[in-house]
Amino acid sequence: MSSYGAAGRFGEGRSGIMAISKLISVRLGATVALLVATVIAVSLAALIYLHSAEEAARGIKRHDAVAAGAAADIAVLLERHRRLVETALLDRDPSALDQRRQSAERIGMLITTLLSNNHDTSVSLLRDDFDALTASARAAFFAAREKEQSEVQRHKTQYTALANRLQETVRSSRNTSLRSATETLILLERRGEDLRFLILATALPALLLLGPISLLIVAGIIRRINQLTYGMRRVALNDTTIALPALDDGDEIGDMARALEVFRNNAETLVRNAKEIERLNAWFDIALNNMARGLSMFDAHGRLVVCNRQYLELYQLTPALGQPGTHIVDIAMSRAARSHPDAVVACEAETRAEMVAWFDTLRQRLALGTPFSQQQILPDGRTIDIHVQPLDDGGWVDLHEDITEADRAKRRITELASSDTLTGLANRRQFMGALEAWYHGSDDSRPMAVLWFDLDRFKAVNDTYGHPVGDTLLRLVAKRLRATVRGDDLIARLGGDEFAILLEPMGEPVAAAEIVGRRVIAALSQPFDIDGRQITVGASVGVAIARVHGATADDLLQNADIALYRAKTSGRGTVVAYQTEFEQTIKAQRQLESDLRLAVEKGELMLHYQPIVDLQTGQVVSCEALMRWRHRDQGMISPAVFIPMAEDLGLIEHLGAWALKQACLDAATWPRGTKVAVNVSASQFASRDLVSAALAALATSGLEPERLEVEVTELVLLRDDASTLDTLNTLSALGISIALDDFGTGYASLSYLRRFPFNKIKIDQSFIRDMKNGSGSATIVRAIVNLANTLGMTTVAEGIETLSERDAARHAGCHAAQGYYYSRPVPPDAVAAAIADCSNRYDAAA
Ligand code: C2E
Ligand code: MG
Ligand code: MG
Repeated sequence: MSSYGAAGRFGEGRSGIMAISKLISVRLGATVALLVATVIAVSLAALIYLHSAEEAARGIKRHDAVAAGAAADIAVLLERHRRLVETALLDRDPSALDQRRQSAERIGMLITTLLSNNHDTSVSLLRDDFDALTASARAAFFAAREKEQSEVQRHKTQYTALANRLQETVRSSRNTSLRSATETLILLERRGEDLRFLILATALPALLLLGPISLLIVAGIIRRINQLTYGMRRVALNDTTIALPALDDGDEIGDMARALEVFRNNAETLVRNAKEIERLNAWFDIALNNMARGLSMFDAHGRLVVCNRQYLELYQLTPALGQPGTHIVDIAMSRAARSHPDAVVACEAETRAEMVAWFDTLRQRLALGTPFSQQQILPDGRTIDIHVQPLDDGGWVDLHEDITEADRAKRRITELASSDTLTGLANRRQFMGALEAWYHGSDDSRPMAVLWFDLDRFKAVNDTYGHPVGDTLLRLVAKRLRATVRGDDLIARLGGDEFAILLEPMGEPVAAAEIVGRRVIAALSQPFDIDGRQITVGASVGVAIARVHGATADDLLQNADIALYRAKTSGRGTVVAYQTEFEQTIKAQRQLESDLRLAVEKGELMLHYQPIVDLQTGQVVSCEALMRWRHRDQGMISPAVFIPMAEDLGLIEHLGAWALKQACLDAATWPRGTKVAVNVSASQFASRDLVSAALAALATSGLEPERLEVEVTELVLLRDDASTLDTLNTLSALGISIALDDFGTGYASLSYLRRFPFNKIKIDQSFIRDMKNGSGSATIVRAIVNLANTLGMTTVAEGIETLSERDAARHAGCHAAQGYYYSRPVPPDAVAAAIADCSNRYDAAA
């Protein structure tokens, strides 16, 4: 924008100056023309005067002087004639008289000639008188020769009179001529005065005024032009501080100065811009040479426009090759020369031809106009990353970065990223990559099997003994797995305790994979010794054969998972190969999930209650609420199936809150001494709403908090965090009892019993079942009872089905018992009957 303005002003200034110099030339021309006109006028006047003078002189010479001269000659001759005649008449000698007469005749002839030659009219008029005079003289001479004195006298008198008149006339004529000449001279004199005046009137002003004024003007113009020229020179030398003269002058020089001022201002802008550009260039240079990456820019012909120091250093190029104009092929050649000092000289032409071909290919790629990156590994092993940005004019900019280290780090990261840092096995990514690669690159002749498994009870181990032990266990598992399969089988830890093995089965794929699966289970089922602890985990394995059990890697893994699911559900420690029918199971599972969702929405679930009986008094102390779901097609579904499903589907919170409320509402109708025990899922502890749900249930039902009991499993304890403890403490503080359900089945440490404020321990029915077998369970139950007693907790024996089991439980010191022996879980409306029945049963037993 500014450069456009400057250019505009520059144009205006230039045309302005041209107009001004034209004006000045016009003015100077006019001055010179005036001077020339003056000289011409003066010269003309002088010529006119000269002409006049010449004419006058010629006139005087032609008329007046001649006339006057002739008159003077005539007067002299007349006088001589008169004296000759008058004296001759006195002479008596006839010869003398005759002689005198002849002299008089000659003089008379001279006078006649003069008179004839004289054009003056007054003189020419004398001719008649002179003829009369001559006649009179001739008559007098005749009379004298005749001696007739009287006649002589008379003719003499006549002659004298005529002579007098003639002389008078000649004198007057001479005077007239002299006067005419004098008048001509006077006229000439006047003309001279006129000329002087004219000269004075023209030449003097011209000399006195025009000359000095013009000189002054010209001197002034030249002085100011000199100043302006100096100013221009200074401006041309970028000195824009110069003060310009004549800026306020109203004449053309002023205009010129103002035009120059525009130039100066433009120059100032240009200088400022140039400085700015210089500064930017300096910054650009600094930036260019201090950037981490090498930069080079080439024009459309492959000639170097600019490059930075790093570029030269990166490829060890000489500074000469960094000069603008160097061709890319020469640079590439030099790079090659540096890389192969021995080879390049011998095959330079060939290499150059190759380089030119390479440049042509590069140009074709640049023509597409899209940036691209490429990597170049130099002979010294360095990896250079080159980012190429095509430019609109056909050139391009390259950014070169030595990524050797980064590349190494990246490879290391990729290595790390593809392996499990804890066990050193492959990770999910590597496993998937290998599987995908097999799917994309293999033929059917090379079968591939996936063994998919996780560890049983690993979470419990991890939570019970802590993560370091869990980590050690995983490392030991990895070690055993390595020892179990072939070296080229790919073992991967997919996350947590989930593993997979990708192997090429030898023989019939399914059977071969199942054998490996069983070996894996056998290896992992052996106890692990960690810091003196004997830890036992197990595994179930799902098997799927690539392509046979999945058209894609994802399908295959999904089916391996289905097989694993099936393995787990069909009894732990088994290997199950995928079968299409399993899909039905999964479908059924999905259907059941959606049915459950609907049932929860519609409130189709219900609570049944199972009494818990005091083993001493036989009284029903509480009833446990057990959730029931009657499926429209499948009948009663076990909570062991739908509760985990509800947890997975995120329904448990809602369902748990409902169970709390419903149980309290139901319990409020029971005898005051009967409590209600509600199972609370570990997932409900994950959210903080359990306390409010319990409070809401109590508030809605009006049940005393002391009549509400919450049953939690060891899974809750495994969370072992402050918020779980808080929740338990809060519930306890509200007066709600807390029972630890299914005690002994999990891996909860006994130390939990000291850390959490349980009121009751429910000993899992598996112990009760085993007591009668003499397997030591009776001792364990007694130990648990003693521990509970010590900690001020009561104990409940679960799953009492028979009288003997009841007695064994009583004998072991259990405080209460629950089981089919007393009552199965019953609907709410049957609770009262069940309570009564329990009491009766006690009486009967007693
Ligand atoms: P649990 O809390 O240990 O419940 C006792 C289970 O043992 C019940 O199974 C009960 O029917 C069963 N049982 C009672 N006496 C005997 C007996 O003499 N012999 C045998 N074989 N079994 C007996 P159920 O009702 O199938 O519940 C299974 C589990 O589902 C419960 O175990 C509990 O963990 C969970 N559950 C039930 N209802 C709820 C609930 O409302 N919320 C939550 N979170 N879990 C629930
Ligand atoms: Mg329970
Ligand atoms: Mg239980």
